[in-house]
Amino acid sequence: MSHGSGGQMTAKLINDIFFKHFQNDILLKAEDSAVLDMNGKIAFTTDSFVVEPLEFNGGDIGKLAVCGTVNDLISVGARPLYLTCGFIIGEGFSIEQLERIVISMSETAKEAGVKIVAGDTKVIETKGLFINTSGIGDVISSVSISNSKKGSKIIVTGNLGEHQASIMSARMGIENNIKSDVAPLIGLANIFEKLQNSPKNIDNSEISKTAIQTMRDITRGGLVTVLHELCEKSNCGVLIYEKKIPVCNEVKGFCDILGLEPIYMANEGKMLIVVEEKYADKVLEFVKNCLYCENATIVGEITDGSDVILKTLIGGERILSPLYSEGLPRIC
Ligand code: MG
Repeated sequence: MSHGSGGQMTAKLINDIFFKHFQNDILLKAEDSAVLDMNGKIAFTTDSFVVEPLEFNGGDIGKLAVCGTVNDLISVGARPLYLTCGFIIGEGFSIEQLERIVISMSETAKEAGVKIVAGDTKVIETKGLFINTSGIGDVISSVSISNSKKGSKIIVTGNLGEHQASIMSARMGIENNIKSDVAPLIGLANIFEKLQNSPKNIDNSEISKTAIQTMRDITRGGLVTVLHELCEKSNCGVLIYEKKIPVCNEVKGFCDILGLEPIYMANEGKMLIVVEEKYADKVLEFVKNCLYCENATIVGEITDGSDVILKTLIGGERILSPLYSEGLPRIC
């Protein structure tokens, strides 16, 4: 509890753990606010992380906190630049585990090219660790959830269900090799930058600057939830093909045993991208070259209906209703 006192013990915690691993010129000034050079439009988002267990196959709460915020910025066509983080630490929490999580955050932030420039710690008389991260980025492209047009193709950047399957396995004590997909999708921000800098030419392919209409990270509630949000905001329907939904064999087996559907399951390193039809194959090529996106594939298209429809393996059509509630709390 004394680490939360605001006194010398707090200063020691901040110096020995947070400043040590997050160090950058802005943070180390230790002002009451970080002062940032920004110009033009900025994107701004926040998210809280309460995942249980704190460390799981493929990641931990720290990596999750950085990736969640970075991916939300990329989803609106922004290049992530700065993060803040608030730590709520339970009394008696292990300093070694805290440092492991902070190192993991720092490594992920480096990979994503973002600086952690401000933060806060509180200690409370409960168990566990909770992290809030906010982030800002430079808006480099105007994608929007309201921008999908009829006929456009829907790309999913990789295999679905891995984060949720990994957390469920840890909670239920099921042994397998399923790793959470938690990852910063920074390569997708690079695609925007390329489009921005040379609007008619990314690596010799003619792609319009407005080819990408919508991006959204496929997190809680899974693909179907994102598709419903898309239909509502873009006033459209969606048709997806069951045979094209990317799922790895292990998650498939896991879902078959437990009666789960990967299209409703949470991911932490997957993006949905809606692309104008004539550029879809070219954009897909670029997406597949991004780290963590090598299994990207076109799963369907935007229709002029209003439902989310799945064309099943045997050729039938099934209307996918939105996820009503989730039986698994504290998944992120
Ligand atoms: Mg999101």
